[in-house]
Amino acid sequence: MSIATNNIAFNVEKIRKDFPILNREVNGYPLVYLDNAATSQTPKQVMDAIVDYYSNYNANIHRGVHSLSQEATDKYEVARKKIQQHFNAKKAHEIIFTSGTTHGINLVANGFASFLEAGDEILVSALEHHSNIVPWQMLCEKTGAILKVIPMSEEGELIYETFEELLSKKTKMVFLNHVSNALGTINPIKKIIDKAHEKGAAVLIDGAQAAPHIKADVQALDVDFYVVSAHKMCGPTGVGVLYGKEEWLDKLPPYQGGGEMIATVSFEKTTYAGLPHKFEAGTPNICGGIAFGAALDYMNNIGFEAIARYEEELLDYATLKLQEIEGMKIYGTSKEKTAVISFNIEGLHPYDIGTLVDKMGVAVRTGHHCAQPIMDFYKIPGTVRASFSFYNNKQEVERFIEAVKKAKTMLS
Ligand SMILES: *Cc1c(COP(=O)(O)O)cnc(C)c1O
Repeated sequence: MSIATNNIAFNVEKIRKDFPILNREVNGYPLVYLDNAATSQTPKQVMDAIVDYYSNYNANIHRGVHSLSQEATDKYEVARKKIQQHFNAKKAHEIIFTSGTTHGINLVANGFASFLEAGDEILVSALEHHSNIVPWQMLCEKTGAILKVIPMSEEGELIYETFEELLSKKTKMVFLNHVSNALGTINPIKKIIDKAHEKGAAVLIDGAQAAPHIKADVQALDVDFYVVSAHKMCGPTGVGVLYGKEEWLDKLPPYQGGGEMIATVSFEKTTYAGLPHKFEAGTPNICGGIAFGAALDYMNNIGFEAIARYEEELLDYATLKLQEIEGMKIYGTSKEKTAVISFNIEGLHPYDIGTLVDKMGVAVRTGHHCAQPIMDFYKIPGTVRASFSFYNNKQEVERFIEAVKKAKTMLS
């Protein structure tokens, strides 16, 4: 099995030099970071953008006439344009800066309260992250709308036929993730979006887990809303974007009141600012937005197709090697998946495996991965999840496999 060698455009050892953290040791071993689905590591190009901001033009945006403020505003708006281009949004003001995926989902769910009536239906998938379940439950409580769940199969795929059956004239919205963070399943979102639109339902796609691997084209998808977090794709925490079609964003009421989101204010009446400012109350994470732009530049320089191809090689290799371990059970075996492996070893608790491999420098996630309904489906308390990124290499996969084998020996 050769990794990267049949992919000459992809020089992982060169890429790894951009990530200072990969040089550190954990518990006396070189770090093997396989928790990329929780948050990605940061290349120095992105750190440089952060240092540059605070060293040279830290100022509040859209407010001051002074030069520094102009400069910060320009750079922030350039970042918005980069994000627009990356996701192929028609207009820059369809890109709303948020604090992350959770914020984006809540913004839309909150706004939809004014469009829903008792008895309307919302469909969510069984593969969702908690942040994509709870806001809809809250919305249903507020409006009397009904939440229905698109079920999943043993392989960790949505059951499309049941989705079609659940969809009706009452369906006002469909919410699902592009990629499941717990299993890595890539959902057939284009098919689902088109079908939902036939019935007049709006679709919000949680792209948090897809965006580090797949470049989504929001116009080609014809999706109504698409949300992401920067920290899963080489950017900093606390910043993300909500893409929304202009006609939806015009209709949605603002989420928060405050500075920056108004046109005029008096005690009798306030009129709201246009897009995107209507949804960007208060001082945003200016540096974070700019650093998000730098992260997209970094990843686009490498190329998303090259990234996806390389990660698939890592996934195939790791899956093959893991399956050689006796008692191994991998959850989520969809043919269409990103480089995430959720697994258990018969008779062992995932937490014990996670703790022992950490002692050998290997960082994996254990638990329910904020997707408890999936764990309930499989009737397990949780899994060990290894999630790979384009800066992981074959030696790290081997260190991980060795650590799991050792942990198994120690625990058996
Ligand atoms: C990480 C993640 C979220 C939450 O993202 P935050 O940055 O914590 O808001 C939501 N959905 C999926 C699929 C995720 O992977």
